[in-house]
Amino acid sequence: MFDYLIVGAGFAGAVIAERLASVAGKKVLVVDKRNHIGGNTYDYHDAAGILVHKYGPHIFHTNSKDVYDYLGKFTSWHPYEHRVLASVDGMLVPIPINLNTLNELYGLHLEASEVEAYLQLKSEEKAIIKTSEDVVLSKVGKDLYQKFFRGYTKKQWDLDPSELDASVTARIPVRFNRDNRYFTDTYQAMPALGYTRLFEQMLSHPNIKVMTNTDYKEIEDSIAFKKMIYTGPVDYYFDNCYGKLPYRSIEFQFRTFDTAVFQQTGTINYPNEHPYTRVTEFKYLSGQIHPKTSVVYEFPKAEGDPYYPVPRPENAELYRKYQLLTRELPDVYFTGRLATYKYYNMDQVVAQSLSLFKKIMSQEEVPLTQGIASAYPPSVNGKDS
Ligand code: FAD
Ligand code: UDP
Repeated sequence: MFDYLIVGAGFAGAVIAERLASVAGKKVLVVDKRNHIGGNTYDYHDAAGILVHKYGPHIFHTNSKDVYDYLGKFTSWHPYEHRVLASVDGMLVPIPINLNTLNELYGLHLEASEVEAYLQLKSEEKAIIKTSEDVVLSKVGKDLYQKFFRGYTKKQWDLDPSELDASVTARIPVRFNRDNRYFTDTYQAMPALGYTRLFEQMLSHPNIKVMTNTDYKEIEDSIAFKKMIYTGPVDYYFDNCYGKLPYRSIEFQFRTFDTAVFQQTGTINYPNEHPYTRVTEFKYLSGQIHPKTSVVYEFPKAEGDPYYPVPRPENAELYRKYQLLTRELPDVYFTGRLATYKYYNMDQVVAQSLSLFKKIMSQEEVPLTQGIASAYPPSVNGKDS
């Protein structure tokens, strides 16, 4: 008899499995319908021996010391700050838009002190910021919106930015300085030996059994377990009873070149030309030294694996209906990007599952296998518990 059946071996499932097994002494079975652990962060060495990410580039970044320290139990880190260039008007310029972008794109000689005023002249006043279009127009105005955001967003989501929640393009800041980094989080690093090795370490506890190639619906009636943690798509759990939640998918096309370097930086975004959105060269991310190089092109599409929840009001409404159903199931916990239909980064998913673990611990009176000090991971809001 397992204490927990955990559906999904991505970050959401693996974190809760590890905590329940190693801290609460629970016996858990982790099932994943794919033939590997790691969820969408799964990486492997391709035919040339280059470490690549099967489901697109995953760059770890977080402001949470707790999340960073927690994952640091299972991996050492390779420091890496991601830098992205956008192909615009025949040039490659930094994105997020910053002082360098404006000067390079328009041939200007602005100083940092002048950028805010410059952008204010270009930007459009918006009383309410509701959509992804509002966000960008109110920060940088129409020309930059059209050059960097409109085409990319249309390709990525098959929606106009005016049809998407503000939160989507708000992920990309605008800077008045010369900081070309994609992220400014305190902790930016890659698992030194890759994500799959990190997951192997997390799931290596004797209380954890892992079963791949298995949809949980094939085994849930034949395996004895007390509670379930579910990290797959929430609509699938309920047999799509209210209809399917929209997800966006991507086709990843990999290529290997016989040269050591393919492009100038880790990722180049293509907002306007080409059917793909971006090209990522993995050796920048991993720091791997190799005479060849491998890259991935991302072609967004409607059908396929559900990678991105689509943040817009009607979808949030539909998700809320499913969420109400989840609340009627006290013995099933829903966590992760698909099960809670949230456009979460990896660190947010890790934090969500660490919080869920705390909640479960507070609900159950479980004897801890370790001292209380190590039982609870530090809280995700930076305060010690
Ligand atoms: P997943 O990783 O999707 O894991 C869920 C698992 O459940 C899957 O393995 C699936 O096979 C399994 N499953 C589903 N249904 C069933 C079933 N019925 N039975 C059994 N198993 C099932 N985040 C970052 O922080 N930085 C990045 O640079 C970044 N880049 C990204 C790039 C792309 C292209 C994508 C799609 C996402 C990116 N993310 C990034 C987000 C990151 O992938 C997620 O935050 C994280 O992987 C979510 O973890 P999860 O466990 O919730 O979901
Ligand atoms: N975006 C854009 N142009 C860019 C980069 C991003 O329009 O050059 C918009 C687009 O809508 C994208 C969103 O901002 O889906 C979030 O970008 P991010 O790079 O965070 O996407 P992810 O890495 O999650 O795919």
